[in-house]
Amino acid sequence: MSNLEENESKEDSINGECYDKEFAVVNPTRMCQPMGGIQAMMGVKNAMPVIHGSQGCATYMRFQLIRHFREPIEVASTSLSEKTVIYGGEPNLLKALKNISEKQKPEIIGVMSSCLTETIGDDVSGIIRKFENANIGKELPAMVSIPTPSYAGSHVEGYDKAILSLVKCFARKMVPNNKINIILGNLSPSNIVEIKNIMKDLNVEPILLTDTSENLDGPLSEETLELHKFGTSLDELRDTANCIATISITKHNDSGAKYLEEQFNVKAISEPMPIGIKNTDIFINNVCNTMNIDIPKKIIRDRGRLCDVLVDAHAYNYRRKVAIYGDVDMVISIARFTYEMGMVPKVLCVGSESSRFKEDLNELIKDMGYKPIVLENKDLYDFEKVLDNNPVDLLIGNAYGASIADKFNIPLFRVGFPIFDRVGAQRIKFIGYNGGIEFVDGLTNMLLDFYYDCEGYKLENKELSFDPQSFNESLLESEAK
Ligand code: SF4
Repeated sequence: MSNLEENESKEDSINGECYDKEFAVVNPTRMCQPMGGIQAMMGVKNAMPVIHGSQGCATYMRFQLIRHFREPIEVASTSLSEKTVIYGGEPNLLKALKNISEKQKPEIIGVMSSCLTETIGDDVSGIIRKFENANIGKELPAMVSIPTPSYAGSHVEGYDKAILSLVKCFARKMVPNNKINIILGNLSPSNIVEIKNIMKDLNVEPILLTDTSENLDGPLSEETLELHKFGTSLDELRDTANCIATISITKHNDSGAKYLEEQFNVKAISEPMPIGIKNTDIFINNVCNTMNIDIPKKIIRDRGRLCDVLVDAHAYNYRRKVAIYGDVDMVISIARFTYEMGMVPKVLCVGSESSRFKEDLNELIKDMGYKPIVLENKDLYDFEKVLDNNPVDLLIGNAYGASIADKFNIPLFRVGFPIFDRVGAQRIKFIGYNGGIEFVDGLTNMLLDFYYDCEGYKLENKELSFDPQSFNESLLESEAK
């Protein structure tokens, strides 16, 4: 039986196991749409996100964001109650818009809907217009409605909808600016800094949609609950219509790029997340081709350094089986990178289904020559069940996989969102050649720690390539003889 056939038949039996619990999601690999909308809004300068829903929605999102970024996070809520569920949430939203405009004085208010308000059918755009009409002559913030019905899609779609709503609301045709829009997706501040560094090296000015790099990794300050002072400005949002192109570095966040292309003839480019050699090459080539520039020596040198790191680490990573879970764009790009590292991406799990994920997957399968076990629209319960019969050496994903790693006594390399059981999530970097170097160093050292250095780790259940304890015991025995 060929590798491919073997994996296909395995996959069938795996799917058979998973169907046993298709009635519910047990431990999801995704979050709800408003979460993605908030993440996009946190990268807009002087902006305030509002959740039009129950108090619990905003509290849950603040809680997740604070324990991941370990920064103060402001998310307002319209705090709907039983009464507003019956009679509609309009009075609460009008009150929230008034209070925020008067007290916090933001430049932009982004109103995200929730399960509740989408179900009762509140017309958020209409309520915003009503508020503006009632306050003609007063200085009001710009207001944007971001429809994020949480019973569909995930935080990835929420981010996408927020970017689309921002460009729809603010982009204005003016003079060409010779810049490139870059839609980032839900990336860590350090990854965004890496994108900025690459653009600096290429001498190209970007408009980042949106830039959380300074807001979510800031210095200690007493002004803890102020509005975010950094990030993409209102002027930059207006100027997005005047760029040469929009590059979306996560394929599932390109609706804003398509809108700018249709409305303002700004070329839309959608590409995989620039992680590893091939995907970063695609990003660099797209920027250079768009701007008609040569690749600078500094970038070529960084690429060479990443290649060198791959060779240095190869002996430890080669044929190590890895299981990856999380957001679609991240999972497929990291799978390719681990393949470039000489590892075997054996199990991939994503919380949604997407034709673009399938396209990228097929391309990866063609390059690798074998098919990994792929769980689409599945949760971490399914993932764990699959790992029961398909052991791997390493997990890559967010903090929700920690108990699975513990069960199988394998290491978990933490990337993605949320990471609440370690510090420094905002400084995790894997984008670009330099991010790739940090990724390979961190991951390889984790494998060295776990599988090669025994001191300080429990040995009982671990399969080690080399076990110095038993080696020493056998040595003593032979000496005694
Ligand atoms: S899934 Fe719905 S109810 Fe739950 S936090 Fe998200 S918006 Fe609120």
